[in-house]
Amino acid sequence: MTQTLSSGGANDPRISERTPSTHAKPDERVKQAGHVRSMIRSVSLWFDNSRTAGATAAADRYEVDWYRIIPFIGLHLMCLAVIWVGWSPIAIGVAAALYVVRMFAITGFYHRYFSHRTFKTSRAGQFVFAVAGNTAVQRGPLWWAAHHRHHHRYSDQDEDRHSPRQHGFFWAHVGWITSKSNFDTNLDAVQDLAKYPELRFLNRFDNLIPLLLGIAVFCLGVALETWAPQLGTSGFQMLVWGFFVSTIFVAHATFTINSLTHIFGRKRYKSKDDSRNNVWLALLTLGEGWHNNHHYYPGATRQGFYWWEIDLTYYALVALSSLGIIWDLNPVPDKIRASNHVSPA
Ligand SMILES: [Zn+2]
Ligand SMILES: [Zn+2]
Repeated sequence: MTQTLSSGGANDPRISERTPSTHAKPDERVKQAGHVRSMIRSVSLWFDNSRTAGATAAADRYEVDWYRIIPFIGLHLMCLAVIWVGWSPIAIGVAAALYVVRMFAITGFYHRYFSHRTFKTSRAGQFVFAVAGNTAVQRGPLWWAAHHRHHHRYSDQDEDRHSPRQHGFFWAHVGWITSKSNFDTNLDAVQDLAKYPELRFLNRFDNLIPLLLGIAVFCLGVALETWAPQLGTSGFQMLVWGFFVSTIFVAHATFTINSLTHIFGRKRYKSKDDSRNNVWLALLTLGEGWHNNHHYYPGATRQGFYWWEIDLTYYALVALSSLGIIWDLNPVPDKIRASNHVSPA
C-alpha cells in the first residue's frame, strides 16, 4: 500500500506531461524492465510451471495474473468461433461426449481419487486417471488436489480460497483461479501423491495434455472431412466444439460446485460450512451436487448417500471396480448417514 501511494504522484499523467523526461526516465526504465520480466515469467509458466513454487504464495490474494491467464481467456474467446465454423450433429456429439468423459475424470479421479483417496488403484491406473483429469484443462492433479484439500480444511472460513461467504460469488466461481496467490502447488498438502515423478511431470507441464487433446480433436475433424464428408464437419469446426466449447462447459460446471453449492440447495447435515445438496447441480456434474453430504463425510466414494440421490460418477466407478481397475471403494457408514441431520433424509 505504501509503495502504491508514494509512487502515485509520478504516475499522474498530468504531471508526466509537464515533467522533463530526463527526471522520470531511470525510474520508468526500472519499472518497465520489471514489468517485462514479470510478463516473460508469466508467459513462460504457461509451458513449465515448475518455477512457480514459493513465488506466488506471498502475492496479494486478489491480484490477478493477467498474462498468465491469457490462455484461459483465449479458451472462452475461441468459443465465439462457432459463428464462423458453423455446427454439425457430429461436432455437437463429440463435444457432449468429451464433456461427459472429462467431467467424470474431474469428479471420479481428480476429486474422489486424488483429493480424497476414496478408493485404490494400480500405479498405472493412477497415471491414466491423472492424464484423463488433465484433459479437462483444470491444471495438474497435484495442484487440483492440494487446493481442494485446503478447501475442506478451511471451508467457508477466511482462509478458504473460493468461499462465496467470504469472497463473493464471482470470486468463488472463477476469480480465485486467476489469482497470483493460487497458482502455486503446496506439495506438503499432497505428499502422498508428490512422491510419484510421473504425477509431478504432469503437474509441471500441465498444458501439455490439453494441447495434445486439442490437436487430436482437430485431426479427427480433418479425418472426418476427408473420409466422411457427408457428416458436414471440418478440423476447425471439430476443434471449436469438441475442444473449446466442451472445455468451457466442463470448467464452469465444475466451478458451480465451489460457488452455487455453497449457496443454493438443501442442508441435510450439520456442518460448519455453507455446503448444500442440489439435485440440478448433481445432474450437471455427474454427482458432485450432493455437496453437503460430501462435506459432512468426504471419505466416501459415493456422494449421493441415498438411492434416490443420483450419482452417475459413483455408478461408473462401481463399473470400473467390477472390471478390477479400481478397488476398496469407501462406503458411507450407516451411523454417519443417519447422524446429525438438520432436515429429514
Ligand atoms: Zn465445498
Ligand atoms: Zn471434496
